[in-house]
Amino acid sequence: MAALDLLTLGFLVSDWKTAHCTIPDGFRMGDPFVETDWQLDATVQHYRVKPTATLGQLAPAFVHRRSQIILPQKAGKGPWSASDALVQACGPAVFAGWAVGGESYDCRDYGCGCGFTYDYEPGEPMGVPWPTPLVQITAFSEDQARNIWSPLQSMIKSGPLADLLRVGEEFVRVGDTGRIDKVTSSAKSRLGQPITAAYQDEVGLWTKQTGMISVAETQRRGLAGMGGRAVETTNAYDPSEDSVAQRTAESKAQDVYRLNPQAPAALSFGDKRERRQILRHVYAGVPWVDLDAIEAEALELMEKDRPQAERFFGNRLVATADAWWDEDQITAWLAIGIPQDVPAKTRIVFGFDGSQYDDWTVIRARALFEDGSVYGFTPRLADKPTYWNPAEHGGEVPRHEVQAAIEYLFDTFDVARGYFDPELWQSEIDAWAARYGETRVIAWPTYRARPMSAALERLKVDTSQARYTHDADEMLLSHLRNARATRRPGGVVIGKPTQHQKIDLVIGDTLAHEASADVPPPRKRGMVIMR
Ligand SMILES: [Zn+2]
Repeated sequence: MAALDLLTLGFLVSDWKTAHCTIPDGFRMGDPFVETDWQLDATVQHYRVKPTATLGQLAPAFVHRRSQIILPQKAGKGPWSASDALVQACGPAVFAGWAVGGESYDCRDYGCGCGFTYDYEPGEPMGVPWPTPLVQITAFSEDQARNIWSPLQSMIKSGPLADLLRVGEEFVRVGDTGRIDKVTSSAKSRLGQPITAAYQDEVGLWTKQTGMISVAETQRRGLAGMGGRAVETTNAYDPSEDSVAQRTAESKAQDVYRLNPQAPAALSFGDKRERRQILRHVYAGVPWVDLDAIEAEALELMEKDRPQAERFFGNRLVATADAWWDEDQITAWLAIGIPQDVPAKTRIVFGFDGSQYDDWTVIRARALFEDGSVYGFTPRLADKPTYWNPAEHGGEVPRHEVQAAIEYLFDTFDVARGYFDPELWQSEIDAWAARYGETRVIAWPTYRARPMSAALERLKVDTSQARYTHDADEMLLSHLRNARATRRPGGVVIGKPTQHQKIDLVIGDTLAHEASADVPPPRKRGMVIMR
């Protein structure tokens, strides 16, 4: 029985999997493959059909051209991909029009004697197998290809599909002309062929260095030609590596389904109790996992490589090497993130990092309260934060919006001073200095390693001082995680790990913090200054 508020082949597909696929390992090996919560969600989403779909449409009939599943170790990604590859090989993977009433999917129509039938509801999308399925299971190494290939073989051999498919070591034959191929970086001969489906595993390791970015792009071209669709699966990726996983996760494409459960960012993976909460969160809907066993494995891996343990078991996107702030520092920073209002007329300082086409333009501020406490925040103008990603503005920073934000700050608050990185914005900064005064609009070039290094160090040290709090800006957090320590003559400064990973909010925040350190706190009302 299908829920018709959601137009999808997914309910049929999931039932088909149960009738044709088996649990590939463990104590219940050989039992019917019944999808667990996240697996059913992924199936329902991957097979969602557009209400406007018409008979004969292939990939364009579906809401999602691709799906990406980011889940921790042992969550069942490999078996899900295996079962789904089998759907694409000989199950109801292609949209076949809308049911009017009385129609059913009957395995006998497709040469399968298992007895499976599925009755459609009126208005439900219908499915049929591909006439000539060409499916690729793709991984960087032979070893990783086994994540999907082993359960796939096991499912075929122990269920009704043994009559339909012939299993080899490197490929599976489907009828006379269809096939499922295993493709790895060392066995790429079939890469570039037109294909109807691709399962790309551990795409967190698919980088320029491993040569796998071009593999992903080649496969997508092969899919586009046939109206086929792809699924990516991976552990959480290292955000400093610009992998295929990262590119897909960060892309603005609306026709990609993304499953990537995240525990609240404030929970620390280094704390035993909080780690347990993280594991409970990301392993929700994975009944076969014993969290005590996962905890033991995570602990063991943490001794060697904590970021990897956090990625593998906590499903978190943490970088491994040379992060400017390690996760302890991030945790300390999150602990003083206490959002509050900054009333008009409050004494503030701010930092400005300008850009034009690629990097972001950023304004971060510090409120200086009378009790000596200092509060870091991103100002908001018309409910929009004062940072601008050129990509979201037609490729160029909207200078008039930045101009309006600067005016808003000076009009609204008691601005003690702002530090401005003058690159690309010199003429605007000159105009602001003329208007608001040279003691308040101050150029502060960030390319100077010695002062920049000192300012960065001050920001780091002050994270542990009681009088500092901030608004826990999510975007600043992400830029903090991107920042890489870079040694220059003059000291350690920060850089971005890749062109796509920005750190501009950290630069703006550092300038704001430096300004806060350079001006005295506001006087308490009624206090008399003796001269
Ligand atoms: Zn069947």
